[in-house]
Amino acid sequence: MPEPFEETLRQRLEAVRAQGLWRSLRPVDQRSASVLETGGHRLVSFAGNDYLGLSLHPAVLEAAVRAVYDWGAGSAASRLISGSLAVHHQLEETLAEFLGTEAALGFSTGHAAATGTIPALVGPGDVVIVDRLVHACCVDAARLSGAKLRVFRHNDLDDLDRILRWASGLSRNDSGGPRVLVVTESVFSMDGDSTPLAELVELKDHHGAWLMLDEAHSTGVMGPEGRGLAAQLGLGGRIEIRMGTLGKALGASGGFIAGSRALIDLLVNRARSFIFSTAPVPAAAAAATAALELMMTQDGELARHQLRLASAAGARVVHRAFPEPLGSASSEGSVGHILPVRVGDEAAAVALADRLRAAGVWVPAIRYPSVARGAARLRLTFSAAHTAVDLDCLEEAFNQACIQTPPNLSADAA
Ligand SMILES: *Cc1c(COP(=O)(O)O)cnc(C)c1O
Repeated sequence: MPEPFEETLRQRLEAVRAQGLWRSLRPVDQRSASVLETGGHRLVSFAGNDYLGLSLHPAVLEAAVRAVYDWGAGSAASRLISGSLAVHHQLEETLAEFLGTEAALGFSTGHAAATGTIPALVGPGDVVIVDRLVHACCVDAARLSGAKLRVFRHNDLDDLDRILRWASGLSRNDSGGPRVLVVTESVFSMDGDSTPLAELVELKDHHGAWLMLDEAHSTGVMGPEGRGLAAQLGLGGRIEIRMGTLGKALGASGGFIAGSRALIDLLVNRARSFIFSTAPVPAAAAAATAALELMMTQDGELARHQLRLASAAGARVVHRAFPEPLGSASSEGSVGHILPVRVGDEAAAVALADRLRAAGVWVPAIRYPSVARGAARLRLTFSAAHTAVDLDCLEEAFNQACIQTPPNLSADAA
């Protein structure tokens, strides 16, 4: 006899709770660029990825509203079925121009971009090699592809080299392969450090492998006019697949892949999350296009400057609260907008986040499965929208919350 459904779920939920991994949704009644209102409390947020505050920028809002009236609230069908709206093409042309690629393709989310793209490019008999800290969507996508999945130690190119050598010794398959795809991130979402991209590009070229670079946390933030890490290092032309999200620094919603015309044509024909899904809402595409246009103006430059200032000031506050030796993570080239404070124990991280919330700031505790077990942490993110007063609130909250905090925490240097 199968166990009753509800009883099975109840037992599994108990196990989640027992491990200190319980998650629940906290309704937010109102938000501004840096402040959330929840349960009648006003909290300064260091939790969002709206790094430039663009989700509330007047030009971005106006573009979204205009698109609703021009195109409707929804896109009505998948783009291959009912025609492909100009608003999506405008976004893709702007993205390709911004990144200096031949073409780009929009997806409903960054997650969908990954799960559509990797299985379109590789399959059984091929090899996907991911950095141990890549985002869950790239791991899911690699599994979905049916390719052999190998993991290299975080940012460890010797380990990657070892796996690439192994892959080149594999016997050829039907498609003349194996094809070998390396996946990494420009700025790691939970650690805030960046990848040694120049060396990695040399290595994958040496082995004839392909590289997919997820720029979710660098698009809009790093590089000339916010074009990302690949652009900053002048390596765009040597990276086969560039991925990003429109939902973080660009303040909208959606994901994208940028690269050659052939890559984009293949995705239109093979990426299942693109083909079998309703096109992103017109408002999101228009908002992202407006955000990209802002990137190239004085306003964009100013927002990136303010983000840098807020990140540096935030790091000083964190390092005053946790004056351990600073940092194992190298955030070389990063503007330090993601700052982890390592706690280790899951329950301790949650307790610290709770105390911070009671003291008026929202800093999320990040636990397994977002990070490894026993690697729980607070993850602070900074925004151009953070004011000096917001950072004073953070300092005050740390002072209150840390009175009862065990001292063995360490903050990574920005
Ligand atoms: C957020 C994120 C994604 C997914 O993007 P969404 O648009 O939120 O689905 C992919 N990769 C990384 C590194 C991310 O942080």
